[in-house]
Amino acid sequence: MLETMRLPVIGKEKMESKSILADAHGRQIHKLRVQLTDACNFRCFYCMPLTPEFLPSSALLSSGELLEICSALADFGIDEIRISGGEPTLRKDFESIVEGLSRLPLRKIGLTTNGFLLVEKLEFLKQTRCQHINISLDSLRAGRFHEITKTKYFQKVYEAVLQTKAQGFKVKVNTVVMRGVNDDEIMDFVKFSADHAIEVRFLELMKIGCSHQNHSLNFMPAREIIKKIEESETLLPQSVNRDSTSFNFTTPAGAKVGFIASESQAFCSFCSRLRLTATGKLRACIMSEAGVNLRGVPRKEYQGILKTVLK
Ligand code: SAM
Ligand code: SF4
Repeated sequence: MLETMRLPVIGKEKMESKSILADAHGRQIHKLRVQLTDACNFRCFYCMPLTPEFLPSSALLSSGELLEICSALADFGIDEIRISGGEPTLRKDFESIVEGLSRLPLRKIGLTTNGFLLVEKLEFLKQTRCQHINISLDSLRAGRFHEITKTKYFQKVYEAVLQTKAQGFKVKVNTVVMRGVNDDEIMDFVKFSADHAIEVRFLELMKIGCSHQNHSLNFMPAREIIKKIEESETLLPQSVNRDSTSFNFTTPAGAKVGFIASESQAFCSFCSRLRLTATGKLRACIMSEAGVNLRGVPRKEYQGILKTVLK
């Protein structure tokens, strides 16, 4: 079902990027996801163990190292950077990193966050080029949110979503849909999107990290989420760029929803993203542990390294 939906969407796409990076499959690589830290103050059960061991800060790239690597990669055509984690806003030097990235020749900077510290960063972020903010919210019910994240911060995160939107940022909500956990809230999220003019992206549970254990129990494919919505709503397909990771729709009531089918319909053949870990490893794929170290590597060696990563 998803397959047939994708066809008209791709026909309209355009690749605006002028990246000089292409992998062995001819994919233009122009996006980079940067992990600022592996640490997090939440314990979403599918992502973090209850008592995780985080890396010592000496193992993490310093802000200077991180900016040097991003600057070098921008020279090779990276023009979109998304800051992620762990929880990126926990980094003490979060602001100098965002300021540094804002000085690079990038056309888009985004942040993916659990929202906990977001409100206090908004005044700062307004002065930067980081304007695309994705906030994770797996439930609209306080008790359930607390069970999923093992925190008591539903209200704080919910208000962060609304305030970030009200202050003019481009906001998306990321919701991992899990069978038997929050799949009864799919229509609540569709309504939330229409009521607040905030795009909601439904993520399939990926079989990585802590989600391995109950994956087959909790996994819900995007096509099933779509089917569920279509029982009471019309989904109107929207065009997206060829390398978009989501299938996007609107509803007549004004909701904007996207589906990220990383498991059931991996978008490998269109992926245009590299990943930089908090310790300085460059990876071509989230599903792969393989990567090449960039920490301390002189720029003249990047060409060879990029060839290895992209082969
Ligand atoms: N801490 C930030 C947050 O939660 O937004 C940024 C990092 S978090 C790893 C980025 C996104 O990955 C979140 O939206 C989270 O829900 C999602 N995620 C984590 N583990 C996942 C999994 N096993 N399957 C699908 N999405 C996952
Ligand atoms: Fe933390 Fe984000 Fe993982 Fe939740 S999904 S535990 S907020 S890193």
